[in-house]
Amino acid sequence: MSDSPSESTSRAVSQGVELVLSPRCLLPVAPVNEVLEGFSVALTNGRIVAVGPHAEVAANHPRADRIVLDRHLLMPGLVNAHGHLAMALLRGLGESQSLETWLAETIWPLEARWMDAGFVADGTRLAVAEMVASGTTTASDMYYFPETAALVCREAGFRFQAAFPLIGNPNAYSSGFDDCLTKGLALLDRFRDDDLVTTCFGPHAPYTVEDAQLAKVAMLADEVDADVHIHLHETQAEVDDARRTHGGTWIKVLETLGLLTEKLQAVHMTVLTDAEIELVAERGVRVIHCPHSNMKLGSGVCPVTKLLDAGVAVGLGTDGAASNNGLDLFAEARLASLLAKSTAADPTRLPAPDMVEMATLGGARALGLSDRIGSIEVGKCADLVAVDLDHPSMQPLHDPHAQLVHAGAGGRVTHTFVNGRCVYDNGAWPTLDIDETLSRAASWRARLA
Ligand SMILES: [Zn+2]
Repeated sequence: MSDSPSESTSRAVSQGVELVLSPRCLLPVAPVNEVLEGFSVALTNGRIVAVGPHAEVAANHPRADRIVLDRHLLMPGLVNAHGHLAMALLRGLGESQSLETWLAETIWPLEARWMDAGFVADGTRLAVAEMVASGTTTASDMYYFPETAALVCREAGFRFQAAFPLIGNPNAYSSGFDDCLTKGLALLDRFRDDDLVTTCFGPHAPYTVEDAQLAKVAMLADEVDADVHIHLHETQAEVDDARRTHGGTWIKVLETLGLLTEKLQAVHMTVLTDAEIELVAERGVRVIHCPHSNMKLGSGVCPVTKLLDAGVAVGLGTDGAASNNGLDLFAEARLASLLAKSTAADPTRLPAPDMVEMATLGGARALGLSDRIGSIEVGKCADLVAVDLDHPSMQPLHDPHAQLVHAGAGGRVTHTFVNGRCVYDNGAWPTLDIDETLSRAASWRARLA
C-alpha cells in the first residue's frame, strides 16, 4: 500500500496488473445521480473488477497496489465525441470569422500549405497532452493522416476514434474522395481489433461530399459494419443551400441516400425542426453537441433538451481547438448547461448530473462504446479520472456534480487512467515527452504565422 499517488501510479504503469484506487468520493455515473463515499475501485489488467467499500475491496485484493486518493473525487474519464486533434496547432488563427469565411479563407489555405504527417503527429500529441490533463480519456478525431494520429494516441495510451476523412479536396494526404476511401478502408482493417483505436467513416459534410459518394459510404458502412461520423446541419446557411440545391434539408438528403440510421454520429445539428428531431430519434441517430464551437462561429444552438426528451443519445465535443480554443470537456459541459438554461430562460434545463453523464456515458453512447467505457462498472475498461477536492474552488463540497460542471474541474484533474494505465499524474505525462511536444508546437508558430 502507498499513500503517494505519483510513486504508486508509476509502479502500476510498469506492472500493469492489479490496482486498487480508494478515493474520498466516487461518481460511477451509472446510476446518474449516485455519489458514493468510502468506496474503492479494483482494476485488473486495465478492467474494473470490483467496486465496493474500502475494507471489502482491500480484503479481496490483498496483493494489489493501492492508491489512496483521500483528497479526490474519482469518476469515469470524459469522452470528447468530436474534434480535429491536429488543429490544436491552428489554435488562435482566424478569430472572429463565420464558419464559411473561417474555412475558406483561413483553415483550408493553411492546411493546403502546411498539413502533412509531421503536422498531424505534432498537433495530435499536443491535443492529447491537453486532454488527458483535463480529464478526457477518449476522443473522436476527423482529420487527415488518421493512421499517424491513431499511432500517436496508441503510443500515449489514449483511447481514440479515427473518423477517417472523406473529402474531395486534393491535399498532402490524398488526391480526392476515392483515395481517401481506399486509405480509410485500409485503416479500418488495420485497427479492427485494436484495444484503444476504433475507426469509422468520416465524410466531412453533405456540402463537401457528393451525393453519389455519400450513397457509397452508406453502402460500405453497412457492409463492413462501421459507424459514419459527419458534420450535419451546422448552420442555417448550410441548410438553406440544401433547400436550394436539393429541394430539402440535408437530413432529408441523407435519408434518401440511406445514411439516416443507427450508425450515424451527427455532429452539431443546430438547425432542426420538431419533425426532424422525431425522425432522428426514430432512426437511432446519435448526436454530438459542440456548444463552444457553435457559439464562437455564430453557427446556432443545438436543441439538446428536445433531443434528449425524444430519447436521442447525445454526447459532447469540443470540435477542433481552432474553433474553441481549448479541449477541456468540463468547460464544454459548463457551457452546454449555461447555454441551454439561458436560451430557454429556464434554470432547470441540463442540470449538472445530466451534464456529467453527457460528458462521459453520453459520449460513449454517441461513439458506440458504452459497453466498454463511460461509467464505473465492473467489466468496463478502467478509464478513470481523479479530481482534487481540496482546492479552494472545490470547497465546500455541497454538490459534487455542480462543482464538476460549474466550478472549473478541468483544471483540478490530478490523475487520468486509460485502460488502467496512468497517462497523467499530478502535472506529469508518463506516456509522452511533454517538453518535446511543447517545443514542436512552438516551432509551428513561426511557420504558420
Ligand atoms: Zn468539426
